[in-house]
Amino acid sequence: MKGFTSLKNVQQELTSAKISCVELVDYYLKEIETKQDLNAFVETFDRSAKAQAESVDLKIKEGKAGKLAGLIISIKDNICYKGHGLSASSKMLEGFESLYSATVVERLLKEDAIIIGRTNCDEFAMGSSNETSYFGPVKNPLDKNKVAGGSSGGAAASVVAGLCMAALGSDTGGSIRQPASFTGTVGFKPTYGRVSRNGLIAFGSSFDQIGTFTTNVQDAALISEVIAGKDEFDSTVSKKPVPAYTASIDSLKGKKLKIAYFDCYVNHEGIDPEVKNRTIEIIESLRAEGHQVDEVKFDYLDQIVPTYYVLTTAEASSNLARYDGIHFGYRSPNATDLESTYVKSRSEGFGREVKRRIMLGTYVLSAGYYDAYYTKAQKVRRLVKESTQKVFEQYDFIISPTSPHIAFDLNAQKDDQIKMYLEDIFTVQANLAGIPAISLPLGQSKNQMPFGIQLMTGEFNEEKLFAFSKELVNKFALIKA
Ligand code: GLN
Repeated sequence: MKGFTSLKNVQQELTSAKISCVELVDYYLKEIETKQDLNAFVETFDRSAKAQAESVDLKIKEGKAGKLAGLIISIKDNICYKGHGLSASSKMLEGFESLYSATVVERLLKEDAIIIGRTNCDEFAMGSSNETSYFGPVKNPLDKNKVAGGSSGGAAASVVAGLCMAALGSDTGGSIRQPASFTGTVGFKPTYGRVSRNGLIAFGSSFDQIGTFTTNVQDAALISEVIAGKDEFDSTVSKKPVPAYTASIDSLKGKKLKIAYFDCYVNHEGIDPEVKNRTIEIIESLRAEGHQVDEVKFDYLDQIVPTYYVLTTAEASSNLARYDGIHFGYRSPNATDLESTYVKSRSEGFGREVKRRIMLGTYVLSAGYYDAYYTKAQKVRRLVKESTQKVFEQYDFIISPTSPHIAFDLNAQKDDQIKMYLEDIFTVQANLAGIPAISLPLGQSKNQMPFGIQLMTGEFNEEKLFAFSKELVNKFALIKA
């Protein structure tokens, strides 16, 4: 919808019959078609979206519409939607159809959201630029020579290009927040265990969380309160009740807060001066407004990225073992016996990056190296978690840039794995510690490219995170979100 600002505004137009859900679906499907060169969508779900739109229009007329009525949302190509295609943007799952819907999908539909299609991503969500996708890279709608970030690049692009109102992505090490930073959207990753992973294709199961891309904080809060909460299909989901995030979104107005920042993040040697200066500027303004903003020590900067990659590759190597050419996915036509079915199906079905991760993961789990890598990394994870929690004994939030720089050029880092893995430097802490984090579009470079500022807070503190995010966006957004 041209000039989309928030779901609330759309819902007003829907109830006053100025527009209908059917018209909205038609509009967005057309937009997706015209902007196909972005490569944001793997597939649109025309038929089910139109059917859902008709049924929601009826409900609106009857005054029975759900909380998300009229929300046109995309889902990342690693979230199951029964009877719809799903591939994790991999050749391995080409032609696969979901046999059931993810819990998040069921909850969206129950509240009358309309799922418009599935978005392109890095293969099995492994990457930082959406360039490992079997379907090719996503272009950044703000500058088509640049990446949209990853792994949820298509999700981010779908929102910023106005191809839908919001998107679901997944974040294992930054895959929602970094693309949100590169596209000027609001990207939110919940506490580990806040949102069910049932129906999310597993990558690193002790890290993965489903979260949102939106144009504003209010919509992130609203969608999150719908999808969060206990689920009998995922034993890692907390039974804690989910607060009404939207009800308390103005609760921090005028409140003085305690905010920490790490010198080693803000003054990191690899940080773009524009990103650094803007972060410092925001820190100074918050101080000037009477918040207590302190520099705090963080001892594990050099350890977080390696720890993340040891643990997630280990988990991935186990999770991806199910793609053996027999149970799931691609089966090589060149196989002659059982052994060659496994070997050839995997060799031909997986892309380079996925194979690299599986090999790394099997290596760190192998008998001779298990203690040196896997056990050690688990210990470091514990230290990171503890030291992060300690900060929140004294502070409400940690503020930092989301990424050290703005979106980079397509192909610029494709073959430099170390550089690519370092993309996650400011985002993996939240995944290692299991805490919620959000990227807010508060920065803009001289060449008009956006970048994000990240807020982290303690476990299950989403309510406060949304409230303070709204304050920050109201004060510092260059583009009103
Ligand atoms: N860039 C990270 C990786 O490649 C993060 C991916 C993610 O969060 N899914 O592992």
